[in-house]
Amino acid sequence: MNFLHTLTGSFAQPAAENPTVAMIEAAYRHHSMEWRYVNCEVPPDKLADAVRGARAMGWAGFNCSLPHKVTVIEHLDGLAPSAQIIGAVNTVVHRDGLLVGENTDGQGFVEALRPVCTIDGQRVLLFGAGGAARAVAVELALAGAAHITVVNRGRLRGQELADLITAKTSATAEYLHWHPAMPVPAGTGIVVNATSIGLFPNGDDQLDIDWSTLRPGTVVADAIPNPPRTHLIRTAEAAGCTVLDGLGMLVNQGAVAIRLWSGVDVDRGVMRRELERVLGMV
Ligand code: NDP
Repeated sequence: MNFLHTLTGSFAQPAAENPTVAMIEAAYRHHSMEWRYVNCEVPPDKLADAVRGARAMGWAGFNCSLPHKVTVIEHLDGLAPSAQIIGAVNTVVHRDGLLVGENTDGQGFVEALRPVCTIDGQRVLLFGAGGAARAVAVELALAGAAHITVVNRGRLRGQELADLITAKTSATAEYLHWHPAMPVPAGTGIVVNATSIGLFPNGDDQLDIDWSTLRPGTVVADAIPNPPRTHLIRTAEAAGCTVLDGLGMLVNQGAVAIRLWSGVDVDRGVMRRELERVLGMV
């Protein structure tokens, strides 16, 4: 009998509405792992103590959510290459006594994408330039995407992301200001919504794009996890596109985190079903 669990968890504020603990612990149970995931409310001025506590207790790792994704970096011993480029960390991994920052948001997205299309050489149209968009853009570029067109409401963030991709990866990128009825450029293989448009309770909110330019066969992905069937997903499906919802991305980033912490490649179906259950989707 072993009464000592391996600890993982999340540091965020607010923490109470984050369903990650349910999805991760479902995976631990399913794989008979004697591991726990502790959802912790940590204010900004206590982050340093929380990280020290995790070190002292030998946690295998932890997730960081708002508002710690950037500020946690100064408390770590190093960064994985993609987290370094993205400039934000959502997963910290305890490796040989050192805490290393990773970003699994984009890795989860790319893992969800791989079974439905080749990424190599693709032209991507990306809406948004916030944290999720940065992670998705960097991982797509590192996975071999040829060109990324960033469309964002705010010019500064949009241009900055396009410049980052061009400077730090082998992909090319450009920023286009978001004008009304934005067309999807011919030759686009993958369209991604990484804005917060469509997030619960506004699942019917629409991207301001020219829907007639969405061609059958294009892969359309939405980062919005709740509701999974956003206006974008429903419309793209009706137009004959291959769709990927944000719940898949959420599940995948969690599964990538567990793999980084434990080496175990967990059953993503188990995690998705538990998320759907706790979010009241089934
Ligand atoms: P940020 O606040 O960093 O960025 C928000 C982005 O949405 C910005 O590009 C912002 O544009 C844009 N935006 C917001 N409202 C509008 C609007 N009305 N019209 C046009 N653009 C708008 O958030 P994150 O990047 O962290 O998260 C974005 C979304 O991705 C969230 O809904 C989140 O739930 C989801 N997400 C999903 C994950 C998953 O695993 N499925 C993981 C992480 C995030 P501007 O710069 O002009 O303000």
